[in-house]
Amino acid sequence: MSDTFLAGRSALVTGSTSGIGLAIAQALAAAGARIAINGLGDADQVAHALRTVREACGGDIDEARVRHFDADLRRPGAIDTMMVAVGEWTGGDGVDVLVNNAGIQHAVPLVEMPVGKWDDILAVNLSAAFHTMRLALPGMASRGFGRVVNIASVHGLVASANKASYVASKFGIVGLSKVAALEHAAAGSRDSGGVTVNCVCPGWVETELIEPQITARRDGGSREDGVRALLGEKQPSLRMSLPEDIASMVVWLCRREAHNVTGASFPIDGGWTAQ
Ligand code: NAD
Repeated sequence: MSDTFLAGRSALVTGSTSGIGLAIAQALAAAGARIAINGLGDADQVAHALRTVREACGGDIDEARVRHFDADLRRPGAIDTMMVAVGEWTGGDGVDVLVNNAGIQHAVPLVEMPVGKWDDILAVNLSAAFHTMRLALPGMASRGFGRVVNIASVHGLVASANKASYVASKFGIVGLSKVAALEHAAAGSRDSGGVTVNCVCPGWVETELIEPQITARRDGGSREDGVRALLGEKQPSLRMSLPEDIASMVVWLCRREAHNVTGASFPIDGGWTAQ
């Protein structure tokens, strides 16, 4: 039987209509949490996400347990509206677990970066997390329990060419998380679980986000050739992670016994940042 240690807790996972965020939403649901999913996508994609998260809860679950909250995270006003709606859905308290996962990127040299892309990437990858955290952390602090897990990247720890806005946003969220961790380090107690803020920093993970970069390295060959070339550049394990590998780390960080793990950034990168 699975360990439903998050029963009675509520979680919001941004960007959970696909990829890593969807796997995190499923894993937190399996651990017993009520789940607010968020993310772009057509009706079919949202319905698929809701269905698979409900299945992870063990079956026939209604809106009270898993719900989609629509917000384009480029817009602070939409984030405010979403956080009010999520707060009402939780019965007024707000979420116990906040996973800022939504992310976008655009790989071109700095001098070719369209200004609008820069703005969008900073807005989704960094500013959205500031807004959700500023709205969720007061409730967590007053209840003495809260978990913020920000999905950064190895690109929050080291740089790569052609990723100016992505690297800037991911270094930014690593720094933002440390400040939030310090400001909330003394909230709650060992028994209540405290309020922690951490980053998870994946290397290559098998999702749609990196397909353009695989395609760019195929050089007339197969997708496998593109994957091999991509991994060979930086990830010594030569293996991509699966979204559920990242989700497992997020779930562990939500445990009570992780109360003293805060302000940290955890690479899951096959040795990339050990070099
Ligand atoms: P993905 O493209 O599969 O998912 C991104 C999610 O963000 C989707 O649900 C999408 O709808 C949502 N999103 C995008 N723009 C949005 C907006 N304006 N408003 C609301 N939601 C929006 O990507 P993924 O690979 O699952 O990436 C998830 C996170 O993991 C990102 O922050 C990414 O930077 C990070 N990451 C991914 C990898 C990787 O190799 N895939 C590596 C390191 C870090």
